[in-house]
Amino acid sequence: MATRQELTAKQRQRLADFIAPFLVRPGSKVSLAKDFDPGFKAGLKNKKAGVALLEEGVRLLSEYQARLAAQDTWGVLVVLQALDAAGKDGTVRHVMSGVNPQGVQVHSFKVPSAEELDHDFLWRYASRLPARGDIGIFNRSHYEEVLVVRVHPENLDRQKLPKASTKGDIWKRRYREINDWERYLSDNGFRIVKLFLNLSREEQRVRFLRRLDLPDHNWKFSAADVRERERWDDYHRAFSEMLSHTSTEWAPWHVIPADRKWFARIAVGAVLVTTLMELDPRFPTVTKQQRQALSEVKRALEAQAPEGAARDPFERARRDAKTAAKSARGDDKPQRPATGGANASELGVERSE
Ligand code: ATP
Ligand code: MG
Repeated sequence: MATRQELTAKQRQRLADFIAPFLVRPGSKVSLAKDFDPGFKAGLKNKKAGVALLEEGVRLLSEYQARLAAQDTWGVLVVLQALDAAGKDGTVRHVMSGVNPQGVQVHSFKVPSAEELDHDFLWRYASRLPARGDIGIFNRSHYEEVLVVRVHPENLDRQKLPKASTKGDIWKRRYREINDWERYLSDNGFRIVKLFLNLSREEQRVRFLRRLDLPDHNWKFSAADVRERERWDDYHRAFSEMLSHTSTEWAPWHVIPADRKWFARIAVGAVLVTTLMELDPRFPTVTKQQRQALSEVKRALEAQAPEGAARDPFERARRDAKTAAKSARGDDKPQRPATGGANASELGVERSE
């Protein structure tokens, strides 16, 4: 079913061109610092220039999410990864602002609990996957298993793996296992959208200072974040390796320039809209038989109208809407006689009304 929000072919192409620079081509070798600019803004001048774009993205997402839920065939998993202060929370808040909260779940993954450490490394993520029709957002995700766990190997020690499982290149093996798991999910109707918010070291410094300087932001500051900042290069190496090995045809990574929050939000919105557009979920249609059954129920309900009440209170509104549409088209103008009367210019005016 075509909707008011459907994009034209030209708009779709513009959207595809807009998100193309963010894509990590499957199989490519990434050096995050060299290949992606955190300050990129696709020629958009400033926040003001992007307001309409973000609003349009939010509107489209809301429309597509309603269809996704109604069709109940596909589920969407959004994976958000970033360094501290890159704006994961704000991005979720803004991009998802128009979406029905019933259809979206956000899961934030912290240091694993004792129970979680007693299971295989994907267990806690698998147990929080979205259902069909839903959008699930992982705020941090299974990718921490090849990021923080790699940068701080003591995390791996806590995972109580048998010796044989830590032999060889454990990270390469985890990449393969993650790719296989994501392939399995996508084969079964779950689309995975992977977004890495790419913040520069300098912008992180400024954002930390802001958290220290503004009393309302103090709560966001954690001394641990500054300790992690010391490991910037190690994280960058881990991110580059992760992007190189886990951007696949079925679940590619997008590196989102995050030095400007407003741009990151537009970019994330654009990638999500594109994904949903590709899935193209539709409202289910009613079969002839179902329509007949609905008519019978309708007749029975109309027959139960108490005295003085309208048989169908919506009928009048429907009739009025029809009349209004007709008059907007000009169909309700009194017919001119077939011959005589109107001259050509008059008809021309009437036709163009
Ligand atoms: P905020 O924006 O509120 O700071 P956050 O995602 O940084 O959000 P925190 O509670 O500050 O949340 O930090 C969560 C911590 O959990 C991070 O330091 C992260 O590295 C850690 N973590 C997440 N997953 C794992 C994991 N699998 N193993 C070890 N540590 C993990
Ligand atoms: Mg934190």
